[in-house]
Amino acid sequence: MEELYLLVEDSELFGRQIKKKIEEELHRDVVWVKTLADTKYILSDNKYKFTAALLDYILPDSSHGEHVDLVLGKGIPTIVFTGDITGELRNNIWKKKVADYLLKDDPKCIDNIISSVLRLEKNREIIILIVDDSELFRKVISELLYSQQYRVLTAKNAVEAMPILNKYEDIKVIISDYNMPILNGVEFCRAVRKKWSRETKGFIGISSAGDGRMAADFIKSGADDFIVKQNFVNEELYHRLNKCIESIDLIQAAKKVAITDFLTGLPNRRYFFDVGEKLLASSKRDNIILTCAMIDIDFFKKVNDTYGHDVGDIVLIEIAEILKKTFRDSDIVARMGGEEFAVMTVNLNPENLTEKFEGLREEIEKTKISYDIKEPEISVTVSTGISSEKLQTVDDLLKKADELLYEAKETGRNKIVMK
Ligand code: GH3
Ligand code: MG
Ligand code: MG
Repeated sequence: MEELYLLVEDSELFGRQIKKKIEEELHRDVVWVKTLADTKYILSDNKYKFTAALLDYILPDSSHGEHVDLVLGKGIPTIVFTGDITGELRNNIWKKKVADYLLKDDPKCIDNIISSVLRLEKNREIIILIVDDSELFRKVISELLYSQQYRVLTAKNAVEAMPILNKYEDIKVIISDYNMPILNGVEFCRAVRKKWSRETKGFIGISSAGDGRMAADFIKSGADDFIVKQNFVNEELYHRLNKCIESIDLIQAAKKVAITDFLTGLPNRRYFFDVGEKLLASSKRDNIILTCAMIDIDFFKKVNDTYGHDVGDIVLIEIAEILKKTFRDSDIVARMGGEEFAVMTVNLNPENLTEKFEGLREEIEKTKISYDIKEPEISVTVSTGISSEKLQTVDDLLKKADELLYEAKETGRNKIVMK
């Protein structure tokens, strides 16, 4: 879908800044109008399909947010900004179910608008499960989450929720009531935590006003946060939900860094061992054929010595790219360190193996790597040792592949040795 934003702003300077920022930094198109009358006109013929709207709250011909109602009425997610900060206005705006509300006199206002836009776009990929026996409450929360562009699933109770959680593995946060038939919210939270950790799913409990215990019980049972049902304001829900998602993302990002090689973006040695051991265990059970290969760039030291370390890095990145596109997602490809790469393939017979690794060898040999338009391109070759022997540990498999790699080096390089 093409991304198109509606901007309504009567200030020439501010409008121009926002439009420019969204077009240049986010590469999204912006339709900019300055009055309620023009907003009506632009929305009337359904000529445009807007991704979201950015609205100044006060316009010369609209001082009570008539244009905001008009845009929200079309189901367009809406970010509002204003210079006015009275509490009453603030409440009125939030009541309208806008996605975000920002202050114009904040020096970072434009940046805040951009991050708000990006958050909305990201929310479209995030699934939230609401569990509550009250139909009204499910509806109220769903609508609030829709205005933030989240994808929403609902369940009446824990028994209904469990199969939904099993089916949609990527549900990111569960928002659950306490008082429900069968299992209460705290018991439900405990059941969820038996299967999914806080690193993969957030859980926000909804407790009743005046019952501090309930909130504590939620947290003790593995909930990340809680909201008091009777008196929460929309902004609080958005904020807590957003924080919950951010902390899951942070943990996942940190985990990813720990298993990724910084230079090439390939999985690293640690990943190879972790996932390799799992694959090995299941291969014993399910009769899967595993093959382990060690690939090493020939005379790589010479590349560094001749062209410099930076060019050496470019070569490593290029080789990694070729490896990524050569193997399937079910195989493991990793940079083990230096100019050594390892591959564990699943269910390839000897002919397929030869074809695959010979193909890789040829592809690398004929690849011309350019590091500077003024300089001639360079190329490298690789030697590969491939072992299909049935061994007990990843370490043993790698040692065997390494021996065969050594043989490939000793007998001429730029070749594969397979046993
Ligand atoms: P052989 O054909 O026997 O494998 O010879 P070689 O020169 O490739 O092997 P050697 O082990 O002697 O040299 C590997 C070199 O790789 C030495 C090291 O400085 C370089 N190297 C290791 N990691 C990196 C890196 O991240 N970037 C760059 N540019 N060079 C690296
Ligand atoms: Mg080498
Ligand atoms: Mg080496």
